[in-house]
Amino acid sequence: MSLPGTVDAADQRAAKPASAQSAGGPEAARALSERLANLTSLKDRLRAVTEAIPGRVTFSTSLGIEDQAVLHGIAKAAPEIDVFTLDTGRHFPETLQTLEDSENVYGLKIRVMFPDAKEVEDLVARDGIFGFRNAVANRKACCDIRKVRPLNRAVAGAKGWITGLRREQSVGRAEVPFASWDVEHELIKINPIADWTLEQLESFVADNAIPINELHAKGFPSIGCQPCTRAIRPGEDVRAGRWWWEAKENGQECGLHSGPASINPQAAATATETLAPRQ
Ligand code: SF4
Repeated sequence: MSLPGTVDAADQRAAKPASAQSAGGPEAARALSERLANLTSLKDRLRAVTEAIPGRVTFSTSLGIEDQAVLHGIAKAAPEIDVFTLDTGRHFPETLQTLEDSENVYGLKIRVMFPDAKEVEDLVARDGIFGFRNAVANRKACCDIRKVRPLNRAVAGAKGWITGLRREQSVGRAEVPFASWDVEHELIKINPIADWTLEQLESFVADNAIPINELHAKGFPSIGCQPCTRAIRPGEDVRAGRWWWEAKENGQECGLHSGPASINPQAAATATETLAPRQ
């Protein structure tokens, strides 16, 4: 219920014209993707998302540099968007510090989702504390319990899910659309910085004094759980430091973004980004 004299997010959504009250689905996602492609600023894109999608829109942040840029945009342009992160129990201390710094800088709360304690206990009893190193199946089971299942709980009931994916990040992300219909979660998945280059991203972060994980300056362009992330060497792929002991064909993904194919065939297929570690 709103306080007297205030208009909350639900009131604002109720006041939208019927044409803006999209029910979701592939066609709504396609229309939103085209609309976002015609906008250039992150703030305009985020406002367009909340205008187009009635109901809860949620943002999953890993607290990496891409997600920090999106968080900045949300705080400045669309604070009604729900923000959550997944605490796997295996994060770097620097990642948790980024979480607290972000809440302090932007004056918002980030929902922290934890894995089910019994599922973690059973997994560790079966595979061992570092069992994910012994087999790809073990690793995927760990990511499923510590990441995928908590994420599924976090997005349940949401109509839109925002991520910080960029096409340059890896071959597997080269065709990430601005928006697509996520069949599994029955919502529109939105990637508002899909077309950003690394240079754009770094300029945006510097220009806006956005707090970022200090590990980025120590050779970690992509930061996941501590035992599954290492710094990369000059010339290595951005995601080479994730599960580096596994064969490349396993995709270096944890299952969070293994949704349906893009519905935006115009999404640019850009080359895999290789870069030197940020020093
Ligand atoms: S990244 Fe490693 S520690 Fe984290 S959930 Fe996946 S396998 Fe487990």
